[in-house]
Amino acid sequence: MDTIIAPIILFLIFTGAAYYVLEPFLAQPVMATENDRETVGTALELRKISLYKQIRETEFEHEIGMTDQEDFERTRKELVVEAAGVLQTLEGSPAEPKPAAPGPPPPVPGLSCPDCGTPAGPEARFCADCGAALGKVCPQCGGQAGLGDRFCSTCGRGLVG
Ligand SMILES: [Zn+2]
Ligand SMILES: [Zn+2]
Repeated sequence: MDTIIAPIILFLIFTGAAYYVLEPFLAQPVMATENDRETVGTALELRKISLYKQIRETEFEHEIGMTDQEDFERTRKELVVEAAGVLQTLEGSPAEPKPAAPGPPPPVPGLSCPDCGTPAGPEARFCADCGAALGKVCPQCGGQAGLGDRFCSTCGRGLVG
Protein backbone atom coordinates (compact mmCIF):
# COMPACT_ATOMS: atom_id res chain seq x y z
CA MET A 1 0.00 0.00 0.00
CA ASP A 2 2.79 2.39 0.87
CA THR A 3 4.20 2.18 -2.62
CA ILE A 4 0.89 3.47 -4.00
CA ILE A 5 0.03 6.09 -1.41
CA ALA A 6 3.42 7.77 -1.12
CA PRO A 7 3.53 9.10 -4.72
CA ILE A 8 -0.01 10.44 -4.34
CA ILE A 9 0.90 12.34 -1.18
CA LEU A 10 4.02 13.73 -2.83
CA PHE A 11 2.00 14.79 -5.86
CA LEU A 12 -0.55 16.58 -3.66
CA ILE A 13 2.19 18.36 -1.69
CA PHE A 14 3.96 19.57 -4.81
CA THR A 15 0.71 20.65 -6.44
CA GLY A 16 -0.15 22.66 -3.35
CA ALA A 17 3.32 24.18 -3.22
CA ALA A 18 3.19 25.17 -6.90
CA TYR A 19 -0.22 26.76 -6.36
CA TYR A 20 1.04 28.65 -3.32
CA VAL A 21 4.07 29.99 -5.23
CA LEU A 22 2.04 30.99 -8.30
CA GLU A 23 -1.03 32.44 -6.60
CA PRO A 24 0.41 35.91 -5.82
CA PHE A 25 1.23 36.28 -9.52
CA LEU A 26 -2.18 35.02 -10.63
CA ALA A 27 -4.08 37.41 -8.37
CA GLN A 28 -3.82 40.65 -10.29
CA PRO A 29 -4.51 43.88 -8.42
CA VAL A 30 -7.77 45.41 -9.56
CA MET A 31 -7.58 49.01 -10.71
CA ALA A 32 -10.76 50.88 -9.90
CA THR A 33 -12.00 54.44 -9.69
CA GLU A 34 -13.83 56.23 -6.90
CA ASN A 35 -17.05 55.84 -8.88
CA ASP A 36 -16.78 52.07 -8.78
CA ARG A 37 -17.09 51.39 -5.08
CA GLU A 38 -19.05 48.19 -5.53
CA THR A 39 -16.34 46.67 -7.70
CA VAL A 40 -13.70 47.74 -5.19
CA GLY A 41 -15.67 46.10 -2.39
CA THR A 42 -16.01 42.86 -4.34
CA ALA A 43 -12.32 42.87 -5.25
CA LEU A 44 -11.40 43.45 -1.61
CA GLU A 45 -13.68 40.60 -0.50
CA LEU A 46 -11.99 38.27 -2.96
CA ARG A 47 -8.57 39.49 -1.81
CA LYS A 48 -9.53 38.88 1.82
CA ILE A 49 -10.65 35.31 1.07
CA SER A 50 -7.47 34.71 -0.91
CA LEU A 51 -5.31 36.01 1.94
CA TYR A 52 -7.06 33.83 4.51
CA LYS A 53 -6.51 30.84 2.26
CA GLN A 54 -2.83 31.68 1.89
CA ILE A 55 -2.47 32.00 5.66
CA ARG A 56 -4.03 28.57 6.15
CA GLU A 57 -1.78 27.09 3.47
CA THR A 58 1.29 28.68 5.04
CA GLU A 59 0.36 27.20 8.41
CA PHE A 60 -0.29 23.82 6.85
CA GLU A 61 3.05 23.80 5.01
CA HIS A 62 4.81 24.75 8.21
CA GLU A 63 3.06 21.94 10.07
CA ILE A 64 4.25 19.30 7.60
CA GLY A 65 7.76 20.76 7.70
CA MET A 66 7.90 22.29 4.20
CA THR A 67 9.04 25.73 5.39
CA ASP A 68 11.54 26.64 8.07
CA GLN A 69 10.53 28.67 11.10
CA GLU A 70 11.94 32.00 9.89
CA ASP A 71 10.29 31.82 6.46
CA PHE A 72 7.01 30.73 7.98
CA GLU A 73 6.87 33.56 10.50
CA ARG A 74 7.84 36.23 7.96
CA THR A 75 5.40 35.04 5.29
CA ARG A 76 2.55 34.60 7.74
CA LYS A 77 3.12 38.04 9.27
CA GLU A 78 3.04 39.69 5.84
CA LEU A 79 -0.22 37.92 5.00
CA VAL A 80 -1.84 38.80 8.32
CA VAL A 81 -0.84 42.47 8.00
CA GLU A 82 -2.23 42.65 4.47
CA ALA A 83 -5.44 40.88 5.52
CA ALA A 84 -5.86 43.36 8.37
CA GLY A 85 -5.43 46.25 5.92
CA VAL A 86 -8.05 44.78 3.59
CA LEU A 87 -10.44 44.30 6.51
CA GLN A 88 -9.91 47.88 7.65
CA THR A 89 -10.62 49.19 4.15
CA LEU A 90 -13.76 47.06 3.89
CA GLU A 91 -15.12 48.18 7.25
CA GLY A 92 -13.91 51.79 7.00
CA SER A 93 -16.39 52.75 4.26
CA PRO A 94 -19.86 52.27 5.71
CA ALA A 95 -22.89 53.63 3.94
CA GLU A 96 -23.41 57.26 4.84
CA PRO A 97 -26.30 57.74 7.28
CA LYS A 98 -29.30 59.47 5.80
CA PRO A 99 -30.14 62.86 7.31
CA ALA A 100 -33.36 62.90 9.30
CA ALA A 101 -36.34 64.07 7.26
CA PRO A 102 -37.27 67.63 8.25
CA GLY A 103 -40.62 67.71 10.03
CA PRO A 104 -43.23 70.46 9.71
CA PRO A 105 -42.15 73.75 11.29
CA PRO A 106 -43.49 74.20 14.81
CA PRO A 107 -46.46 76.57 15.00
CA VAL A 108 -45.72 80.04 16.36
CA PRO A 109 -47.25 80.16 19.84
CA GLY A 110 -50.11 82.58 20.22
CA LEU A 111 -50.64 83.09 16.48
CA SER A 112 -53.57 80.85 15.70
CA CYS A 113 -57.23 81.26 14.83
CA PRO A 114 -59.32 81.73 18.00
CA ASP A 115 -62.19 79.84 16.34
CA CYS A 116 -60.56 76.75 14.83
CA GLY A 117 -56.95 76.84 16.05
CA THR A 118 -55.35 76.91 12.59
CA PRO A 119 -51.93 78.56 12.81
CA ALA A 120 -51.83 81.99 11.20
CA GLY A 121 -48.98 84.26 10.13
CA PRO A 122 -48.37 87.47 12.08
CA GLU A 123 -49.69 89.57 9.16
CA ALA A 124 -52.86 87.49 8.64
CA ARG A 125 -56.13 89.36 8.91
CA PHE A 126 -58.40 86.37 8.35
CA CYS A 127 -58.12 82.65 9.08
CA ALA A 128 -57.08 80.70 5.99
CA ASP A 129 -59.18 77.74 7.15
CA CYS A 130 -62.46 79.13 8.49
CA GLY A 131 -62.34 82.78 7.45
CA ALA A 132 -62.66 84.18 10.96
CA ALA A 133 -61.26 87.66 11.43
CA LEU A 134 -57.87 87.45 13.07
CA GLY A 135 -56.97 91.11 13.32
CA LYS A 136 -57.02 93.16 16.48
CA VAL A 137 -58.62 96.54 16.87
CA CYS A 138 -56.57 99.17 18.63
CA PRO A 139 -58.48 100.12 21.81
CA GLN A 140 -57.05 103.66 21.65
CA CYS A 141 -57.58 104.75 18.02
CA GLY A 142 -59.74 101.95 16.61
CA GLY A 143 -57.21 101.14 13.90
CA GLN A 144 -56.82 97.63 12.48
CA ALA A 145 -53.80 95.62 13.57
CA GLY A 146 -52.56 92.14 12.74
CA LEU A 147 -52.92 89.26 15.19
CA GLY A 148 -49.19 89.29 15.93
CA ASP A 149 -48.68 93.05 16.04
CA ARG A 150 -47.18 94.21 19.32
CA PHE A 151 -47.96 97.90 18.84
CA CYS A 152 -50.59 99.81 16.90
CA SER A 153 -49.10 101.02 13.62
CA THR A 154 -51.28 104.16 13.74
CA CYS A 155 -50.89 105.49 17.26
CA GLY A 156 -48.19 103.33 18.73
CA ARG A 157 -50.24 101.96 21.62
CA GLY A 158 -49.05 98.63 22.99
CA LEU A 159 -51.37 95.79 21.86
CA VAL A 160 -49.93 92.92 23.91
CA GLY A 161 -51.78 91.74 26.97
ZN1 LIG B 1 -60.13 79.61 11.86
ZN1 LIG C 1 -53.87 102.84 17.70
